[in-house]
Formats: sequence, C-alpha cells, structure tokens
Amino acid sequence: MAKQYDLIIVGAGMVGSLAALLLADSSLRIALVDKHSGDYVLSTPPSYDARVSAISCQSKALLESAGAWQKIPKERLAVYNNMVVWDGLGEGYIDFNARKTNLPELGHLVENAVLCDSLMAEMRLSSNIDLYLADELETHELSESGVKATLLSGQQLEAQAIIAADGALSKLRTHNAFDTIEWDYGHHAIVSTIEVDKEHENTAWQSFGEEGVLAFLPLPSVDDRHFVSIVWSVPPKDAEQLMMLDDQAFCERLGYAISHRFTVLDIATKRQSIPLRQRHAKQYVKAGIALIGDAAHTIHPLAGQGANLGFGDVKALVDVLAKAHRRGETLGASKVLRRYQRARMLDNIAMAAGMEGFKRLFGSQQPLLVQLRNSGMAHFHQSTQLKEKLVARAAGLSSFS
Ligand SMILES: Cc1cc2nc3c(=O)[nH]c(=O)nc-3n(C[C@H](O)[C@H](O)[C@H](O)COP(=O)(O)OP(=O)(O)OC[C@H]3O[C@@H](n4cnc5c(N)ncnc54)[C@H](O)[C@@H]3O)c2cc1C
Repeated sequence: MAKQYDLIIVGAGMVGSLAALLLADSSLRIALVDKHSGDYVLSTPPSYDARVSAISCQSKALLESAGAWQKIPKERLAVYNNMVVWDGLGEGYIDFNARKTNLPELGHLVENAVLCDSLMAEMRLSSNIDLYLADELETHELSESGVKATLLSGQQLEAQAIIAADGALSKLRTHNAFDTIEWDYGHHAIVSTIEVDKEHENTAWQSFGEEGVLAFLPLPSVDDRHFVSIVWSVPPKDAEQLMMLDDQAFCERLGYAISHRFTVLDIATKRQSIPLRQRHAKQYVKAGIALIGDAAHTIHPLAGQGANLGFGDVKALVDVLAKAHRRGETLGASKVLRRYQRARMLDNIAMAAGMEGFKRLFGSQQPLLVQLRNSGMAHFHQSTQLKEKLVARAAGLSSFS
C-alpha cells in the first residue's frame, strides 16, 4: 500500500529542509527523502566545517519562523556588521556598514553542517513530516493529478507533487528532461577555515586582484584565538598549485593575497577545492514537479547568495502552495506550479547575470578593466544611496523585479 502525502520533497539540504518545515506549518503532509542518514558529524571548535554560508537577514527570518534558527548553538554563529572590499591591483575600496544602512546586521556566518543539523532536529519534531533517510527514489511517475514513487527501500509513496531540492547535480532535474543553460566559471573555490593573528572585527573582508577573489569571513573566536572561513576563487590551474602547497607555504600565500591585513597562523580545517559552474534551469516546473535551490540554479559564491536565493524560492513556493491548498486546487497542477516559477525566475536570472558581470569585471587583470573598476569603486564608495540599495538586495529586503 502506498503512503499518501500532499508533497514529496527530495533533498534534505538547507533548502529542502526549510521547505519541509514551512509547508508542514501550513498543514501539508510531507514525505522528505534524502540519501544522507541525517546524522551530521559536527566538528568541535576550533575545528570548523570547511563549508560555511553567509545567511542574509531575510533568510534568517525564514529560518526563525521555521523554528530552526533558534536551535543553532550561539557559539556556532558569527554576526557580521561590516564588509570591506578592495582591489589588490589599484586603489579601489568600498566598505558597507549595517548601522549606516539601518539594518541590525549585514548577516550571519554559519557552518552548513550546523544549519542542516538544526533543521533536521526541528523536522524530527514535526508530526506533519515523515523522514525517509539513507534512501532514494527508485522510480517515479508524474502527471497533472499527482506523483507515484517507489523508494530504493521498497516503500511506495503517493502525493500531489514532488519538489526537487536534490542539489546542483539534481537527478530529478535530469530524469525529467529539464533543459539548463550552463557554463564553467573558469574558477575553482578553495575553502577552509584558518586561524589568524587578530580579531576579524565582525567584518567580511574581500579582495580582488592578481591572486583571484578571496574572502575572509568571520567565525566565532575561541579562548582569544581568532578564526575565519576562506573562499578563494582562482583559475583551476592556480587552484591545483595552491592545493599542493604545504600548510606553511599556503598560509604565506594567503597573507599576501589578503594584502597582509592579517597574519595567517594556521590551517584549522583541511582545504577543499570546488569547481564552480553557473547553471540555470530554463523552466523550474512541469506538471507534478518543481525545482528549488541548487537544483534550479547555481551561481558564483563571490557574493554569498546561492543558499539565500534558494530560501527565496522556498518562500515563494510555500506562499503559492499554501494558498492553492486553501482553495482546494491540486498542488501539482501546472497552472499552480507556474505561479511559483513566475514569482522567482526573473529575480534569480538577474542575480545570476549580476554575478557573471562581477566575476568578469573583478576577475580580470586587463589594465583598462582594472582602471575602470577602480574608478567605479571610488564612485560607488562615495554613494550612500547606491550602497544602501546593494545592501538591501543582498539582505533579501528588495528584489530586482
Ligand atoms: C564555495 C561556496 C561557498 C558558498 N557560500 C555561500 C554563502 O556564503 N551564502 C549562500 O547563501 N550560499 C553560498 N553558497 C551556495 C550554497 O552552498 C548552496 O546554494 C546551497 O548549499 C544549496 O542548498 P540545496 O539544499 O539547494 O542543495 P544541497 O546543499 O546540495 O542539498 C541537496 C540535498 O539533496 C540530497 N540528495 C542529492 N541527490 C539525492 C538523491 N538522488 N536522492 C536523495 N537525496 C539526494 C543531498 O544528500 C543533500 O542533502 C556557496 C557555494 C559554494 C560552492
């Protein structure tokens, strides 16, 4: 006998889990399937997870309303109130400050595993969510009236629609023949956490220049020892060389690349190198299925917006499905799911285009472009209005559309 649900969500990453919690709060019955066991092994500070995300004010509010933010231990959260950006190849410099833009903060840094663990803990408490962990879809059939699925474990599920939150390499997206527009950014991101010689001043530091795009993102200090998470985006060949350096040589290169604003004392978490690819599904929905988060789009991490865009998808989808449920409409009907696509696609495309432009402008060492961006940065730095607009957008408080 198939178990009956309103929705099946595949993927219990940050995005799928938030969707499950908010949809369950709207009285919908959810089956959440993930190949992961759901048991996160958390490192103990001063060792941190290498994957960290900057979470905007808007995303924090959504996570709070789902009850997950409150479950994150305070000592695993770092607030950032300032952001400093400079061009290592010129005089270009911009700073952003939360107080000057009337925000409580610019955002928070949290380890991905810590956030997923908090979301999982909250989902385990929900009577509207059944978790099918360490499991995957074996087969599924979609139609306007609903979805029938069989899991590898043999469990059969039926629902009105399926939500694909299974990440950048989404099997559901491929299996259901969603076309994508995609290209290589020509960058790999090296991520790690490192110990530095002084306080980060709750500031996100970002440098552009001959050493690539490098961010030092604040993490909680431990016993007067100071830590930051790094995201260092460089061409693949340079990434290969940086990954081969021993820890001491890597720390020295990092110090140089961050213009010696910090002395890098040690590597706290093993380095990882992640190839970066821009990808955008041409459609987010078909009868019976909707793509959200990285399954629908991936962008360059230079502005720390990927997960925040995914949370924006969740908000739009929950609004659409909760309303349709109250009206008695079939949740998987194309006309219902297209409302979600209309609400999100333009904004996501605008952000992807913005990131491509930033990457080209700030990743270039051509003298003319370097000159252009430095004078552009000087102009931007003087304009409170422009800064306010950009910060409001990054905080998720305004949209392009
Ligand atoms: C270097 C780097 C830095 C970043 N920094 C930031 C940042 O500061 N701020 C920000 O907002 N974003 C950032 N991002 C982007 C962010 O990490 C992603 O957008 C976000 O993790 C996507 O979440 P998701 O839940 O959509 O996908 P995922 O996190 O990939 O989760 C997918 C889930 O689906 C499950 N799954 C996959 N396949 C299957 C299957 N076949 N069956 C069952 N389950 C399956 C997986 O186990 C996983 O749990 C960064 C990205 C990179 C690469």
